[in-house]
Amino acid sequence: MESVFPRLEPLLPRVSKPVQYVGGELNSTVKDWDATTVRWALMYPDAYEVGLPNQGVMILYEVLNEQPDVLAERTYAIWPDLEALMREHGVPQFTVDGHRPVGAFDLLGVSFATELGYTNLLSALDLAGIPLHAADRTTEHPIVVAGGHAAFNPEPIADFVDAAVLGDGEEAVLEITDLVRAWKAEGSPGGRDEILTRLAETGGVYVPRFYDVGYLDPASGGGIEYVRPNRERVPERIAKRTTMDLDAWPYPKQPLVPLAESVHERMSVEIFRGCTRGCRFCQAGMITRPVRERSIEGIGEMVRRGLDASGFEEVGLLSLSSADHSEIAEVTKGLADRYEGTNTGLSLPSTRVDAFNIDLANELSRGGRRSGLTFAPEGGSERIRRVINKMVSEEDLIRTVSAAYAAGWRQVKLYFMCGLPTETDEDVLQIAAMAKEVIRAGREASGRKDIRCTVSIGGFVPKPHTPFQWAAQCDPDTVDDRLRKLRAAVNSDRNLGRNIGMRYHDGKPSLIEGLLSRGDRRVGRVIERVWRAGGRFDGWSEHFSYERWVTAAAEALAPLGVDLAWFTTRERTEDEVLPWDHLDSGLDKEWLWDDWQDALDERELEDCRWTPCFDCGVCPAMGTDIEIGPTGRTLLPLTPVN
Ligand code: SF4
Repeated sequence: MESVFPRLEPLLPRVSKPVQYVGGELNSTVKDWDATTVRWALMYPDAYEVGLPNQGVMILYEVLNEQPDVLAERTYAIWPDLEALMREHGVPQFTVDGHRPVGAFDLLGVSFATELGYTNLLSALDLAGIPLHAADRTTEHPIVVAGGHAAFNPEPIADFVDAAVLGDGEEAVLEITDLVRAWKAEGSPGGRDEILTRLAETGGVYVPRFYDVGYLDPASGGGIEYVRPNRERVPERIAKRTTMDLDAWPYPKQPLVPLAESVHERMSVEIFRGCTRGCRFCQAGMITRPVRERSIEGIGEMVRRGLDASGFEEVGLLSLSSADHSEIAEVTKGLADRYEGTNTGLSLPSTRVDAFNIDLANELSRGGRRSGLTFAPEGGSERIRRVINKMVSEEDLIRTVSAAYAAGWRQVKLYFMCGLPTETDEDVLQIAAMAKEVIRAGREASGRKDIRCTVSIGGFVPKPHTPFQWAAQCDPDTVDDRLRKLRAAVNSDRNLGRNIGMRYHDGKPSLIEGLLSRGDRRVGRVIERVWRAGGRFDGWSEHFSYERWVTAAAEALAPLGVDLAWFTTRERTEDEVLPWDHLDSGLDKEWLWDDWQDALDERELEDCRWTPCFDCGVCPAMGTDIEIGPTGRTLLPLTPVN
């Protein structure tokens, strides 16, 4: 397979950041095309600087390339400047490893962390010469497989993908590879239909075309009447994939080192998957249950090997709530001991206030760096935190933050959401009161006036497979109005307010994310219309156009009797068929509904890691249990590499 690089290279001096398209990063792989039988192109549908550090893609890239007869290469979204030149010069979407045309691969796996990447999928398909609609593809075209968290409701992109995989990918990609290998070895019998049927038969790969969706007429609400298989051999419901033993999958072993500046320049080790804290807004926590920890030795070995292979100077201990690892104190102390004096920094990118303590913070900063601390109380008032089940008390927060300021930290970032179910202006204004209290207590604890607190606020988007999947999304005007009032409240006290920074975006992109998150197949025509009108990189404020989405939604949905508000700001009823009901995240729908009712009653639910089971349904469905320590083991000291 010929490289397109000779045709691409003359275009690169004419575009911004050309280095992102050249490949050749440390630990990247280019295999002999003809020596392999199954070939995957893996895409992260955003710019290189965001996509390269993505752990999901990095893991699959390595897992696949370890197979002797399998080749995996990466491709990212192309910026509009290069896209225009590629169209003008007939250069197709390419991989950055071998610069091979994406259209020549057997499979194109696309990992969606956010729904705002959907228009970038369409650009990549079109540039690759792959028909946008799965129904128009032949055996000549790659099988397009969606994964990532957004794949838990792939209905809005059902027309554009051939298949979707829910949940953990490392075992799933190998099973898919086996099926494709066998089918190709047989001479590809039955064409595309047969291989898709074989994938669907496994029960763990969703092939949208094998399911018919019927809709109620608008007078009866316009919702979904049924979703049912349209052929034998495919299951009624599709199960998510769960990798139970993380120690058996110590990837990435050789992290990719970016050539150009990227959003994270560190070595990341996932210390556990899943979360049972039960925050009701958190799709990631819900869909990745149960909790599975990596062992302390497993973490230690991945850090050692990854640092040796990459030369990074920072290690991120990743998970949904890193301080919740049952042996986090031993892990951080062990690593801090091992790397003391080597200028290797340690970070816990997501930490809960109530699981954090100053000993942990001190261990993290022993490597010499004292980066900012970030906590996410998510809601400003005690009441709204009960609604969202984020059981963090203001006292906890003030105590933790004061201790951090006293121990020498100068900067603390607090993350909140606006537009939560049942929220009032008063709930949001409490954020100002909390931030002022943080500064007041911090000044007292540290004896300094120059401490800072940055309040960062995101718009809440109700997500599938969470208790808030039935909630009405808050309209952008209300969100924007509350944020204006909040800013005024922060600034009302100059003495404290000057130490408080505020960061927020307007509520409009969140509404579109809401449309794409809880949409059904009818939303596909909105996405296509937006893309045809020039929509690209919708996750970037400078490229996002709210007007383009609103216009496209009005035009595409009006003939169907539904509209943007129907998909977003409308509360759902208990008996409504949700577009993702046939996609099984393991969570019991009745349990989710009860949890939604508890939210409305402002009732909290504890973390099932340390309490009896609440019957969310996941553990029995997975035939497993919560897997946590403590194991009592310690990290063996190693001689670090300076
Ligand atoms: S089944 Fe029970 S123990 Fe398992 S995640 Fe759900 S609530 Fe927790």
